[in-house]
Amino acid sequence: MLTKDQAICIRAVDYSETSQVVTFFTKATGKISAIAKGSKRPKSAFGGPLEILSHGRIVFSDSNREKLATLTEFESAASTAGLTPHGTQSLLRNDLFALNCCLFAAELLNLLTDEHDPHPDLFDSFLQFLHDVQDAADKPEMLALLILFQLALLKEVGLQPILSHCANCRTRYEGRETRDGVYFSSSANGLICRDCEPAFQDKFRLSKSAAACLANLRLLAESPQKTLLEIEELLAHHFTELTGHRPKMAKHIVNP
Ligand SMILES: [Zn+2]
Repeated sequence: MLTKDQAICIRAVDYSETSQVVTFFTKATGKISAIAKGSKRPKSAFGGPLEILSHGRIVFSDSNREKLATLTEFESAASTAGLTPHGTQSLLRNDLFALNCCLFAAELLNLLTDEHDPHPDLFDSFLQFLHDVQDAADKPEMLALLILFQLALLKEVGLQPILSHCANCRTRYEGRETRDGVYFSSSANGLICRDCEPAFQDKFRLSKSAAACLANLRLLAESPQKTLLEIEELLAHHFTELTGHRPKMAKHIVNP
C-alpha cells in the first residue's frame, strides 16, 4: 500500500554506495524510517541524496511495519514553502548557529517520538520553527525559538514540565520573587521551590531571570542571551535525564 504524506527529513544515513536510510517526521503518519533506493545515484528519482531538514511530499510503501518502509517519491516543497530541498546546505551558507538549532530540534524530535505515532500539530510547529529560525535576526531570537519548540515538543509527547508552581508543594511561582532559590528537577518534571529543594538530588539551580522566564514565557523575547543560554543548558540537562544520554547537538548550542 502506498501512503502519501507531508514530511520533513530528520535523519539521513548512508545505507550503501547508492542508497540511504532516511527518517521522516510526517504530518499524518508520524515518524517513519524508509530506505531510499538509488538516492545517491546521479540521476536519482529524488533529485539527489536526501538531506536532513528537507521538506516536501513523500510517497512510501509500508506494508509491513516491522520492516523499513520504501520511499518511492520525494517532491520538494521548496517552491511553495521557501525551504530548499537541500535545506541543510542553504541554512549552512546563511548561519551555522541557525543550522545547529534546527539540527538540535530534529535530533530531539527523533529521540522523543515513536514511529507511526502521529502528531500533526507538532509537525506544523516544527515546520514553522524551521522557517522562523531562518528568518530570525540574531542568536537570542534563535535561542528563544528553540526553547519554545523544545517546550512544545515536551508538551506534545506528554512530558510538559510544571513551570507555574512548585512541582512538589504546588506553591504558585509568580515569576516576581526577589529571593534566590528556584530550582528545576527532572525527576519532579518542573520547578522546585527553596523549601522543597533539599529533597531533590537531581536539582538544577536557576538564576532569578531564568526562573522568571520559564514561569512567564513571554519574557523570552526580551531576555539577554546569557539567560537564554542558561535555559538551554537546563533543557539539555533535562533531555539528557529523559533520554539517558546527552543529545549530540547540545554542545553546538550551549558551548559553541
Ligand atoms: Zn515547593
